[in-house]
Amino acid sequence: MNLPEKISTSIKMNVAKRKLDSRKIKSTHGNPLEQWGVAKIKKEIAKDKELKKLFGDKDLNREDIKAYKLLKLKELVDYVSKNSPYYKELYAEHGLDSSQINSYEDLAKIPLTEQDKLAAHPYHFLCVSRKDIAREFTSSGTTNMLKRVAYTQGELLEIVDSVISGLKMAGMDSNEDTLQIMYPTITATWDPGLVLSKACDLGGFRSVINNSIDAQSQLDTIKEKGTTLIIGTSSFIYNFTIEANKIENVRDLGIKKIICSSEPLTDTMRMVIESVWGCKAVRQWGMTELGLANAIECEGQDGLHVNNPDFLIEVIDPKTSEILPPGEEGELVVTTLRRKCMPLIRYRTRDISAIYDEKCNCGAHLDQRIMNVKRMDDYSSKN
Ligand SMILES: [Zn+2]
Repeated sequence: MNLPEKISTSIKMNVAKRKLDSRKIKSTHGNPLEQWGVAKIKKEIAKDKELKKLFGDKDLNREDIKAYKLLKLKELVDYVSKNSPYYKELYAEHGLDSSQINSYEDLAKIPLTEQDKLAAHPYHFLCVSRKDIAREFTSSGTTNMLKRVAYTQGELLEIVDSVISGLKMAGMDSNEDTLQIMYPTITATWDPGLVLSKACDLGGFRSVINNSIDAQSQLDTIKEKGTTLIIGTSSFIYNFTIEANKIENVRDLGIKKIICSSEPLTDTMRMVIESVWGCKAVRQWGMTELGLANAIECEGQDGLHVNNPDFLIEVIDPKTSEILPPGEEGELVVTTLRRKCMPLIRYRTRDISAIYDEKCNCGAHLDQRIMNVKRMDDYSSKN
C-alpha cells in the first residue's frame, strides 16, 4: 500500500470506528450484547419523532422492545412493498399492507419467504440500485441451494458492529486478547474469517487467521500469537480438540473461551471440548443470507442471545406454518428488521430451535434467546 492509500484507509477506519456503538460498550458490567442492542434501539428512538413520542427516553423493558420491533416490521413491510419487486408482487397478491399488522399474532398474515425463491431470483429481493451494493455473498447453507445476498457498506458496518458486541460478550475485552480464527477456507463459500478479522481490527482486538486443518500448525499459532479465544466451525473445533489433545496438554495454553459456530454443537461435543481445554465453549448461530452474526451464547450457556435490534425471530411448525409459543421446538423464521439492501421478511431458515422468553441467568432480561439450533433432518426424523 502506498502512502495516499494508507492515509485513505486510515481515514476510512476512523470514520467506521466512530459509527460503531459496540466500541463504547464496557464488558465489565452487564451483558455487552444486550447493552449494545439497547443503545442501538435508543439511538434510533432519539432520532425518530414518532418513536420518541411512544417511548420517550425512559428505560426500555421487554414489552417496549417487542413493541419497537413490531413497529420496525410494519415500517419494513411498507418499505419492501415499494422497493422490492418480489415483495411488491407477493403482498399485492395477498392484499397485505402494514395497517393489518398490529400484534404478534398478526405476523401469521404475512407470507413466509421460502429459500428457493431467494435462490431462484435474488435480484427480485433487491431494494436499492445495484451501484449501492458494496458486497455480495453466495451461500449454500445447509440446504444445498445457492443463495446470493447483497449488502450496502452501511450494512456491512452494522454486521461488524454486532460481531464486536458478540465477541465482547464471549469475553474479549481488550488488546490483551487474541482471537484465533480457524475457519478452514474449503468449507466457506464466503469468508467469515475476513469479517471477523475486520471486526477485531475495528473493535481494537488482536486476531490471527489460521485456516490450516493441521492441529500442530494451529497449536503453533496459539503459542506464537498468545491466543486467548478460538472461533471455528463446531465440527472443526471438535476434531482439532481430539487431535491437539494427542499432541500435548492444551490446558496449559491459557485459552479462555471457545466459540463454536456454523454447525450444531451437541452437548457431548461440548463436554469433550470443555474438558480438554479447561474453559467454556459457547455456541454461535448465523446464516450468510441473514448476515452471519445472528445469535451467540453467553457465559451462562442457557440459550443463544439474539442480535435483538436487527432481527425478529419466530418459531413455526414446519408442516403447518403455525406460530409456536415460546419453549416449543420448531423451525426458526427470521426477519431482518433493519436491512435496506435485500431485506428478508419471515425467512424460513430450515433450522430448528425454540424461543426462550425469560430472563437469562447472566442477568440480561431484554434479549430474545433461542435454544441450541439443530438441523431440520435431526428434527424431521423424530417428528
Ligand atoms: Zn445470558
